[in-house]
Order: sequence, then structure tokens, then C-alpha cells
Amino acid sequence: MQTHMPIGYKMVDGKIQIDKEKSKTVKKIYSEYLKGKSLLAIAKELSEKEVPNANNKTNWTHGAIGRILENIKYMGDEVYPKLIDNATFDKVQIKRKQKENQLGRTAQPNSMKNQSLFANKIFCGECGEPYRKYTEHSGKASEKSRWKCKKYIFKNRVLCRNLFYTDEELKLVFISAVNQLIKNQRLLDKPHKKELAKMSKELLAIENQIHKLEEDEKFSSQELADLIFKRAELTYSTSKVDDYEVQTQKIKELLIGQNQLTEFDVELFKGMIDKITIYQDGKVETQFINGLKICEILEYKRKDEKNGYSKKDSGNHTATNEI
Ligand SMILES: [Zn+2]
Repeated sequence: MQTHMPIGYKMVDGKIQIDKEKSKTVKKIYSEYLKGKSLLAIAKELSEKEVPNANNKTNWTHGAIGRILENIKYMGDEVYPKLIDNATFDKVQIKRKQKENQLGRTAQPNSMKNQSLFANKIFCGECGEPYRKYTEHSGKASEKSRWKCKKYIFKNRVLCRNLFYTDEELKLVFISAVNQLIKNQRLLDKPHKKELAKMSKELLAIENQIHKLEEDEKFSSQELADLIFKRAELTYSTSKVDDYEVQTQKIKELLIGQNQLTEFDVELFKGMIDKITIYQDGKVETQFINGLKICEILEYKRKDEKNGYSKKDSGNHTATNEI
């Protein structure tokens, strides 16, 4: 049995044919997407309706939908019968490209957009500055890009000695943090419930005290003023916890049906990461949009970079023009 056959096809007598039932799902995905539904919304709907995917499972991810929408086999070739007409396929590709551009995701080497994925997402835990991507040996075979603290070089001097990371290393940090979260989704539930319960209890007690003072007509007492101030503070904190809940819900929706990541996922990164903070001792802290932080110590990194600050390294990070 073919393992990489896309959904919508089946093997009959050694020949690939259209699977009538599953091809309907493929066509529906294409038409729903053109109607304006997001990958996530389509995945959610299919999961909820328990529509079977290629492996006859009913957990659909936005990633799987994305792969279906870009699989050129659906237009037909020597092996695969045509399932989607060229015009529909092209419309979908154009639409995806437009969306990508809106989100500023298009990777263009040596432009500001090249910075976009991690731009303003990576921060220096030592001096608080954002990380910037620096390209060395631009245009040569030895070209190498790494993320370094913005204050790494300041006024021609090495100022911040925090660690450097490549795109790939940062992607691995993200994958590892998300996988920990997928493995232990209770990380998303525990803290706020307790916190909220405690706060609402406290708020109720303060309300009662205020009410009592008002009943006794002690309107100008310092005690009442203090209590009203405290109530305002608590109400503010409670609204922050509510926000935590909203953000947590967004993360949970993105994780529905999500298996352990084996590769980087742009949509997940954009949808759930607030920032990644780099520390000089090799600690890397991934902070999710709801404030949850997952830390990792990259020991290998620390050893590597201790010897890494050679003169050659510090002088070469700016773009050079060769004439
Ligand atoms: Zn720094």
C-alpha cells in the first residue's frame, strides 16, 4: 500500500484511482478556502464532523489542510487522475500568496522581510534589546546569518556579549517548547483557575466591607478610601486574568488535533508566541501569548560561544560591498 498517496485517491489493481468519498473532501477543502475560510476553520469543521483524513483519522490540522491546498498532484499527471481543475488550483495558490504577503511572511533574502519571522520576537535577557539578524559573507558560499543582540556592536565596540543563534536553532527552541506544551496541556489550565478563585473571593470580601462602611455612612473614612483603591486594583488584575483566559483559548484552538512537531510551523509560531528571551548562560525562555514561559538550557551553545568571540567574528557582521 502506498503510504504517501494524497487523500482523495486509492489504489486499485496497482493503479491509482479517485476515491469517490474522499475526493469530495478534497474538493470541499478547495471550495471552502476560496469562499474565505481559514485553514484553521476548515480543519476545525472537518474534525468536528469527524470526516476521515488520508489515514482514516478525524483529527485535522491547519498544516494538513495547507498541504492539500498546495499539492500539485490534484491537477493530474501520468500517475494521478485529475481531481481539481487548473483554474481552481491556481486561484487557491494566488489567494494563499496574497494572505502570506498580508502577514509579511514572504522570505526575501537580504531585505527587511528576511527578518520578519523572528523580528521583534527575540530579546536579549542581559540588556533587554531586541535581537537582529546579521549576515556575514553576504552573497558568498560561506554566507552565514545569525541572530545577535542589537547592542552586540555599539559605536564600533562589542558591547553585549550575549549568545548568537541561527534561524534553525531558534526554530528548534520553538519546536521543543511547543512539544512540551502539547505533551502537557495542563500547563495551560492550572495557574489561572486558582488565581481567579482567590481573587474573586478577595473581591467579594472587599465589596462586603465597602458595603458595610457605606451602610454605617462612613463615607469619608480613610478605610473606605483604601478599600475602594484595593477594589480597583483587584478589578484590574481580574481583567488581566480574563485576558489570560482569552489568550489561552487561542493557544488551545491552535493545538487541537496537533501532534508533536517534527518541523517548524510558521502559523503556530505566529499564533502563539509572544517572545523568546536569550540569556548568556545558555538559557532560552519561550513566552507564549498568555504569558506562559517555557525554559530550556542549551548547554552546547554556551560551550561553543565561549571561544567564539574572535576578532574576525566581531568585525564581519556588517554588510560588505565588493566592487
Ligand atoms: Zn544584549
